[in-house]
Amino acid sequence: MTMGESVALVTGGSRGIGRAVCLELAKQGVRIALNYAGSEQAAREAAELCRELGVEAEVFQADVSDPAQCARLVKEVKERFGRLDILVNNAGISRDSLMLTAREADYEAVLNTNLRGAYFCTKEASRIMLRQKYGRIINMSSVVGLHGNAGQTMYAASKAGLVGLTKAAAKEFAAKGITVNAVAPGMIATDMTGSLPETARQQMLSAIPVGYPGEPEDIAKAVSFLARPDSRYITGQVLGVDGGMGI
Ligand code: NAP
Repeated sequence: MTMGESVALVTGGSRGIGRAVCLELAKQGVRIALNYAGSEQAAREAAELCRELGVEAEVFQADVSDPAQCARLVKEVKERFGRLDILVNNAGISRDSLMLTAREADYEAVLNTNLRGAYFCTKEASRIMLRQKYGRIINMSSVVGLHGNAGQTMYAASKAGLVGLTKAAAKEFAAKGITVNAVAPGMIATDMTGSLPETARQQMLSAIPVGYPGEPEDIAKAVSFLARPDSRYITGQVLGVDGGMGI
């Protein structure tokens, strides 16, 4: 395999980190299946930017919190591109609140999108990758999943769950040519962190040893590295890309 022969499905590719991942993989010649939930115009613009980089790119609407839609998504990607080599489970939401005031509906939305979505997309994609005897799966965890953060118990649980999923799936697929890794971003400038209250933002900034927030492209470079065919001996790992927050 080469990057130029690969097809990638990036969930939540319309904005933020997912969009940067699509563009970075497109730069490497990877054909892009870009998933989005509601931001159709942003998704179409991101796909057009990928095409301008010289690769095929298509948008696929699906809500990954629903297992049936994960199955439909992967089926549509296979029908359109004929194969699936790279899955980036990036789609995610945060609904921050203190535990005592957290609502059950928010708990379900966060866990279903961040963890269940990755689980069922991995399950569906792995059927194709097992037949190909090749695959690269990258889950978007978080520094919060590794170290916790007050006010983010639901989010932290979902992101820590992704670490367990990554390690178990890595063992399950290791002998089949499929690697499974996670990237754990720190504080990255996207819509997700743009809505943080100023005090929380300042608190997080003061915890970043390099002294500034990361850009989506910083994460995209790490994902692209793990997605390479010659990263075959790296599996079950969690790569922190956090300006030193996790030290
Ligand atoms: P963002 O700017 O809010 O973008 C979120 C993306 O996820 C959008 O493309 C959105 O699609 C998609 N999405 C949300 N719910 C979905 C669903 N049910 N089905 C399909 N797609 C869905 O967030 P971001 O900051 O780029 O975060 C991307 C990932 O990195 C998330 O998993 C997040 O937890 C993780 N992360 C972010 C940071 C950070 O500091 N930003 C730090 C650590 C980890 P629509 O546009 O269609 O809504």
